[in-house]
Amino acid sequence: MSEQDTDAPGSAEPSHLTSTFERGSFCLARCSCGWSGPARRSRDLARTDAATHPQPSAAPAA
Ligand SMILES: [Zn+2]
Repeated sequence: MSEQDTDAPGSAEPSHLTSTFERGSFCLARCSCGWSGPARRSRDLARTDAATHPQPSAAPAA
């Protein structure tokens, strides 16, 4: 038997938990980081948006 890793102890980085939900005949994607994608007519497109959404990381500004 193998143990199941539920959480990574000591990791403080915010995880991007994306999910899709339907709104009318459109499908939208949103992430736990607060990001939300545009309304898509395809769930696959919405999921692609979620997978490639810009991640707001702490970029060292000049
Ligand atoms: Zn995110």
